[in-house]
Amino acid sequence: MNVIKKYLAFQKNSGISPYIWVILFILPFYFIIQADTTIEIILGILLTFIFFILYRIAFFAKGWPVYLWTFLLIGISITTTSLYSYVYFAFFLAHYIGNIKDRLTFLILYFVHLISTSVSINFSIVQQDELFLKQLPFVIVIWISVILLPFNIYNRNEKGQLEEKLEDANKRIHELGVLEERQRIARDLHDTLGQKLSLIGLKSDLARRLLYKNPEQARNELKDVQQTARTALNEVRKMVSSMRAVRLKDELVLVKELLDAAEIHLEEVGDFELSNVPLLTEHILSMCLKEAVTNIVKHSGATCCSIKIEQTRAETIVTIHDNGVFKQSAQHLMQGHGLKGMKERLEFVNGSLGLLTKDGTTLRLRVPLDLTKPEKEEFT
Ligand code: ATP
Ligand code: MG
Repeated sequence: MNVIKKYLAFQKNSGISPYIWVILFILPFYFIIQADTTIEIILGILLTFIFFILYRIAFFAKGWPVYLWTFLLIGISITTTSLYSYVYFAFFLAHYIGNIKDRLTFLILYFVHLISTSVSINFSIVQQDELFLKQLPFVIVIWISVILLPFNIYNRNEKGQLEEKLEDANKRIHELGVLEERQRIARDLHDTLGQKLSLIGLKSDLARRLLYKNPEQARNELKDVQQTARTALNEVRKMVSSMRAVRLKDELVLVKELLDAAEIHLEEVGDFELSNVPLLTEHILSMCLKEAVTNIVKHSGATCCSIKIEQTRAETIVTIHDNGVFKQSAQHLMQGHGLKGMKERLEFVNGSLGLLTKDGTTLRLRVPLDLTKPEKEEFT
């Protein structure tokens, strides 16, 4: 069984149960031993072995040898069909042809195989071969699989390749995002800390030189150094806190304070501790929540608002509603930076932004849990 398993290893993910393959490997011998003469039996066994060997070789072939091996395999399949009423090699071929990657080669070999199998089956039926007619239902099953199986496998392989490409692209986007973030940090460090530190260097050098000559001025310079160091420290703190991803529930605390100050009543629905959401996505949702609430306070004139969080298996949805009046017509909507920024950020994680301006303003932020595209929700 182990040997068979090993041999079958290259058939894995074919979607066809290994037991069916085992039966198909053994079945030809059952047909062959029913032949009339010993020579026919020996020839049959030889052909079967040659078929399996070529079949194995064909799986690794590329370019023109694919045609060569396939034509040889089709030849053997036709021979066993007419000599031993054994049609099941056609099934192996259907499986092999489905796995051909090049579209043109696939189509050519698909039709050659379909026509040759159909002709040889018809020929055997016309000849009224007894053994053949007995297994007619199975022959029909094989004929149907010769029609459908290659396309089925071909499409599945193609889909798999596309998914792989998509995954690569997503990884690349992520890497680019990280790179850009790193460059931004480098720039910030250079612009803030770099300048401050060189200023500290210059000033302390100056103070050292003035120490005996002009102690008063040296003291002033040192005061400046101290001041600059303090500012630099503050800037570093600010930078670090702007880099740290904000959790939705932490953002909610800030948002509550803001709404309280504006005397807008807040209703919260759902669990703000998100599960299964990447930190980047949660950070983006937090930024959007902040912007949405700022807009409510700035523009809506509402007395009540609600924030609702729903988590399904496929996506996270945050709905923010207020009972005020939406100020702008749809055409002018994209003039501010807030809504546009939200939309762009959400799209970065394949999410979408929906805006409804009936009975107040409703914003719906949706992000999928995996990085595949959701249905687009446009501005209304
Ligand atoms: P920025 O956010 O760049 O400071 P902004 O708030 O004007 O400027 P957006 O956030 O894009 O820009 O909002 C666009 C416009 O949509 C606002 O100027 C406002 O007229 C309207 N608007 C947005 N949200 C609300 C809301 N909750 N209620 C009423 N009007 C809103
Ligand atoms: Mg705004």
